[in-house]
Amino acid sequence: CGITAYIGNKEAYPILIKGLQRLEYRGYDSAGVVMIENDCFNLYKKAGKVKVLQDFAESNNVLGNIGIGHTRWATHGVPNDTNAHPHVSNSGRFALVHNGIIENYASLKEQLKQRGYTFKSDTDTEVLVNLIEEIFVKEEIALEDAVRIALNEVIGAYAIVVLDNQDTDTLIAARKGSPLVVGVGKDEFFVASDASPIIEFTKNVIYLDDQEYVIMRRNGDIMVKTLGNIEKTPFIEELEMSLEA
Ligand code: GLU
Repeated sequence: CGITAYIGNKEAYPILIKGLQRLEYRGYDSAGVVMIENDCFNLYKKAGKVKVLQDFAESNNVLGNIGIGHTRWATHGVPNDTNAHPHVSNSGRFALVHNGIIENYASLKEQLKQRGYTFKSDTDTEVLVNLIEEIFVKEEIALEDAVRIALNEVIGAYAIVVLDNQDTDTLIAARKGSPLVVGVGKDEFFVASDASPIIEFTKNVIYLDDQEYVIMRRNGDIMVKTLGNIEKTPFIEELEMSLEA
């Protein structure tokens, strides 16, 4: 399973898809991507190989210079198109990819249902994106704060990336127990489960520590925080590895 993400001046889709191909060795049963264009999601997800996703997506509109990609190894819900990631919140505003398991998803889902939320998939992941949305709406706070508060209610392991189609200048990622690497380019950022999707674009990376999240802005600003809301100085390392083309 794997995650890719991009924010910057380039088209996101080719970067996301190539990254997913680089991560195929990790194993997966489904794949998906979403890009934001004109405040809307261009969202494609398919059970099966990345190639199946690619054929489907490329017969549609794949534009957008911010986006996230995912290969899924199903833990909750069978491998099918609906259960594939990204998952979108009830309002249609937030999209999320997730590797890992939300162990307390059933009780969170029950509570969200009682408060009017509905679910299309059988995944634990769809619960998380709606929990984030509920907190965002109810508390009237920034998305990064809603993400942190939601993650503090969650038990389990995860690497996630979140998109807001009303804010194409911000990309948010977090991890606990699953790996996540940030590539730091010039006014652009890459996120992936390991460095292999990033290396051809930049050698400057930040290995996110456990229980940290990162807020990346289109203007090149980056902020790393713990899930306890303590800001950290981002430690940028230079990759020495190279990659066969
Ligand atoms: N638990 C999530 C699901 O079943 C994510 C699985 C993964 O790590 O790909 O959809």
